[in-house]
Amino acid sequence: MMGDINGNILPEKPENGGWKADVEKVDLAEQSLLNKMIRRSLVKNRNQVEVLQNDPSSPLYSVKTFEELRLKPDLLRGVYNMGFNRPSRIQESALPMMLAQPPQNLIAQSQSGTGKTAAFSLAMLSHVTPDDKWTQCLCVAPTYELALQIGQVIELMGKFCPDVKLAYAIRGNRMERGVKLQEQIVIGTPGTTLDWCTKYKLIDPKRISMFVLDEADVMIATQGHRDQSLRIHRQLTKDCQMLLFSATFEDSVWRFAEKVVPDPNIIRLKREEETLDTINQFYVICKEKEEKFTALCNLYGCLTIAQSMIFCHTRKMAAWLSGRLTTEGHRVALLSGELTVEQRAAVIDRYRNGKEKVLVTTNVCSRGIDVEQVTLVVNFDLPVDLDGNADNETYLHRIGRAGRFGRRGFAVNMVDSEHSMDIIKQIEMHFNRKIKKLDPSDVEEMDKLNI
Ligand code: ADP
Repeated sequence: MMGDINGNILPEKPENGGWKADVEKVDLAEQSLLNKMIRRSLVKNRNQVEVLQNDPSSPLYSVKTFEELRLKPDLLRGVYNMGFNRPSRIQESALPMMLAQPPQNLIAQSQSGTGKTAAFSLAMLSHVTPDDKWTQCLCVAPTYELALQIGQVIELMGKFCPDVKLAYAIRGNRMERGVKLQEQIVIGTPGTTLDWCTKYKLIDPKRISMFVLDEADVMIATQGHRDQSLRIHRQLTKDCQMLLFSATFEDSVWRFAEKVVPDPNIIRLKREEETLDTINQFYVICKEKEEKFTALCNLYGCLTIAQSMIFCHTRKMAAWLSGRLTTEGHRVALLSGELTVEQRAAVIDRYRNGKEKVLVTTNVCSRGIDVEQVTLVVNFDLPVDLDGNADNETYLHRIGRAGRFGRRGFAVNMVDSEHSMDIIKQIEMHFNRKIKKLDPSDVEEMDKLNI
């Protein structure tokens, strides 16, 4: 007999094929632990963060600095002491949401190494009231080792917050029955945590105001952990803030997440290749701008079904295009460099709220604006760098707005010369994805698109 990572006894010989499944489960947690142990810095991800708000009408905050979070000075000191200069991509959006008042629930997914653990550790440390000597934050992780890893981050980050204490609900940590813990934060594995809440009554689940479930994908790979997590969750009150993290997001994780986190805000940081998987890419041959305009009008029926964005190379072209579309009776929003910041904000607001369904913009103007749920992106002019080569990063940034949250998105590129055809080829090669030819005057073909 041998023990798995949780000390559970595994059979030595395969039984009914169950052996393989068990081995894989152990691997998942180990792999995750290994990742954490070898990682010394953030994994770079050039992708955008997708944010789906529970209440889309509430303003979307994201922060570029830790100062903006108005943390307690001792906590801020701990963050800087860890060598963090600024929030990671996922932290920019996740931190303000986790610290918001009234509390907001969150489901966050991003690959390992993008700063999730640091984010919720910060949220827990910021959340607790040090003078209250009872457990206020509960965090469960799939294994003993992973729980210890999280604990280390909390201890390091909370180094200058001496009144905030942490306890580990992990095997071997024997406690006296019925004596309530004074530690404000408890981090543990599902089994022991559940025992501490129910059997030993060391924690009053009704007084937990922040619940963190980490590595949800690893957690649900083991049926026992999944059930124990749900049982802990059931003890908590409706007002408890629920935060769930996962590195991957298959349907099973999603279904579990929805059970644990009511009315969630959702933040996802996809991998580059994943982004492109949900976007159908096309090109249309047009000789010059009038022809592009005609092609666009043929697409227009599709454009207005959901929201679309059209990118032009210059301000002048954007102004011309929006003028032509307006003359044709289409309602478009123009985001242009001539507008003041307030005016730009108003344009984006109207577009976000669906008052106009088409936004014409230049790259410079649209940078940094986060508009979700775009179905179609049109590159009226292709993105090129100063040498006239394909600007792949900008391309991804533009079309990455389409196809979010599991919906299909479309990207249409206008090709007006041999040179632009070369650019399309470069982009195809770079991302290793096909960009198909499209004839927008072919009604049948357009129907097939089913945008
Ligand atoms: P995840 O939980 O997504 O795997 P971690 O929170 O463990 O990611 O972060 C991965 C690595 O990056 C860790 O070494 C962590 O210390 C570091 N890290 C996290 N946030 C930041 C930040 N804002 N700035 C610099 N390094 C960071």
